[in-house]
Amino acid sequence: MYFGSVRFFKHLILVGLGLMVMVPITLCVVFGAENYALRAQAAEVERKSPPVVSQPAHTPEAAPAPSEQPKEAPALGMEPEAPAYQSLYPELYAPEAARGMVDEEKTVYLTFDDGPSVQTPKILEILERYDVKATFFVVGREDEQSKEWMRDIVAAGHTLGMHSYSHDYEKIYTSTEAFLEDYDRIFTLIKDTTGVVPSICRFPGGSINGYDGPTYREIIAELVRRGFVYFDWNVATGDAAETGLVKPAKLEENALSRVSSLRRAVVLMHDSAAKSTTVEALPAIIEGYQDAGFTFAPLTAEVAPVIYMYPD
Ligand code: ZN
Repeated sequence: MYFGSVRFFKHLILVGLGLMVMVPITLCVVFGAENYALRAQAAEVERKSPPVVSQPAHTPEAAPAPSEQPKEAPALGMEPEAPAYQSLYPELYAPEAARGMVDEEKTVYLTFDDGPSVQTPKILEILERYDVKATFFVVGREDEQSKEWMRDIVAAGHTLGMHSYSHDYEKIYTSTEAFLEDYDRIFTLIKDTTGVVPSICRFPGGSINGYDGPTYREIIAELVRRGFVYFDWNVATGDAAETGLVKPAKLEENALSRVSSLRRAVVLMHDSAAKSTTVEALPAIIEGYQDAGFTFAPLTAEVAPVIYMYPD
């Protein structure tokens, strides 16, 4: 009889010992593998998610700054808060006027940036000789002679617009506040010197340039909110070339290069002590537009702006 025999109990003890050894080993293998799989999965998730910077525990100072905390979406129907810069420089507003309604065919707007300068009286003399009105986007020169030239520009019936006070790209385009600080100075200088409240402007380097990529949208929105109209150009004479003076014949060629295709021309030139060939080329440029049947006019807030295409 096997059951109950000594051999049976020996075998029972052996099986019992075997189970005591095998069960923990099996459990270790099974759960170990599962654990490994879970860890592998976790590692995969971590690779896909951005790294998390761990905050040291128990340091309340390490809490994120208020600006970094997620903003709550404003409730429906609530007014969004106005940016603080809107309340800066409360005088810095353009006079009321109809905006951008004048869009005359075959009109040319001659514009002179960076003045006033020793060239201003020469330019004024040529414009008067041809009975042409133009636009001067001036910078912040406070000496008496420069102020006199500003008044001469206005007295002759040309438009005095703001270019900037400092013409310092690296300063004015850093923020909307920096731009407004500069523009408030040139606005006040023009107003106090000539009695004219400026309403149009031209950005140094144009409205989109190598310096204002991150800021131009906000700066433009704020200028427009304050009633100002800004003008770029669609004809460049090339007189600002840094390689030295450009020959008058070349300036004339550039100025008239699009005369047969443009319905309106805004011509970029410079009123600057160094740019003597601009003055030399001016009569031929005026005659070229006259021959093509163009009418000359100064830019005003009423003129439909000529503005660069915005990049995507
Ligand atoms: Zn300029």
